[in-house]
Amino acid sequence: MPEKNKELPKVMPTMRAAVWYGPGRENFRLEQVNRPDLNAGEVIIKVQKCFFSAMHVRAVLVGHPKHQPPEIFGRMLAGEVVAVGADVTGIKEGMRVTVNPERPCGECFYCQVGELGHCINPTTLPSGGMAEYVCVPAALVGGIFELPPEIPYEEGAYAETLACIVQAMDLSNIASSDCVVIVGDGGVGLTFVQLARLQGATKIIFAGKHDDSLQQGLALGAFHAVNIKHESLRDVVMQETQGYGADVVIEAVGSGETYEQALTMLRCGGTAVGFGGTPPGTKFPGDPNLIHYRSLKIYGSYRYIPDHFRRALDLICTKQIDLRPIITHYVPFSNLTTDAVDIHQQPDCRALVIDFAKEFS
Ligand SMILES: [Zn+2]
Repeated sequence: MPEKNKELPKVMPTMRAAVWYGPGRENFRLEQVNRPDLNAGEVIIKVQKCFFSAMHVRAVLVGHPKHQPPEIFGRMLAGEVVAVGADVTGIKEGMRVTVNPERPCGECFYCQVGELGHCINPTTLPSGGMAEYVCVPAALVGGIFELPPEIPYEEGAYAETLACIVQAMDLSNIASSDCVVIVGDGGVGLTFVQLARLQGATKIIFAGKHDDSLQQGLALGAFHAVNIKHESLRDVVMQETQGYGADVVIEAVGSGETYEQALTMLRCGGTAVGFGGTPPGTKFPGDPNLIHYRSLKIYGSYRYIPDHFRRALDLICTKQIDLRPIITHYVPFSNLTTDAVDIHQQPDCRALVIDFAKEFS
């Protein structure tokens, strides 16, 4: 191992990290923890930007069934490579990078049946990006990607969310000139608008409850924006499709009500994609008559596979989508544990980025 790598732990044996000890704001704390060691096949990234998502809000306030404390959150990150193990090739110190935080094992039941996104034994980051440094284990080093100089760190860090959206777009199978309904006007919905447009949809109906977001959707390529507080989305869809219904409906809210509604707005043979996550036990009545007699295709879309991540990052790095209206809020790392939940809950917050650069400038 090169001398420089050996010296790193001595230079700075600890780092600051936001550690989650379970539900309750007081259990989300900024502390000094051991800095990760570097082994021969690994890479250490100094985090510059990391997303704080709705999942983190939920974990901090009430806990999350998929997470057990203590944990350092943060899968969507980007930063600068500061140490490279002796066995690593192609990655250099000083590179601006993001990393795919998960790699399927390729051997388990789900990998064998082609459902890589549901891998039972994936390799994941041992510790997340809500810390000054992250160690990328050897199995994930192949998922480190350099960012072009003109791409901000936060846009590179958005690749994981975009990878999930790319998968949902594949399932939606949107064809040129399709009528596509996107329900949910958060940052994810605004991303769907842009991808549907890229895929050739000409009649994108964008629905939500926030006028500013809906206006933004129109600017990004939506054909019609519907504030569901004032207008019946189904009525609009039927008017715009001569009463047939939409080719595709994407649910990006995560409520039983919108899942139910999605089925009622489709043409015969139309496709519904359930992207929004709901709490366990959420129910909706759902009319099987519609599913059968209208030959509806219904897909759930959760997570992504490595190919989706690469395609997502390519969309970002080639500036095919505009993330500026989506990444709306920032919180300095030093204020993360005290302020992030409140900022994320502001009605105009579409995506919240933890900013490490402000810390050290
Ligand atoms: Zn697997």
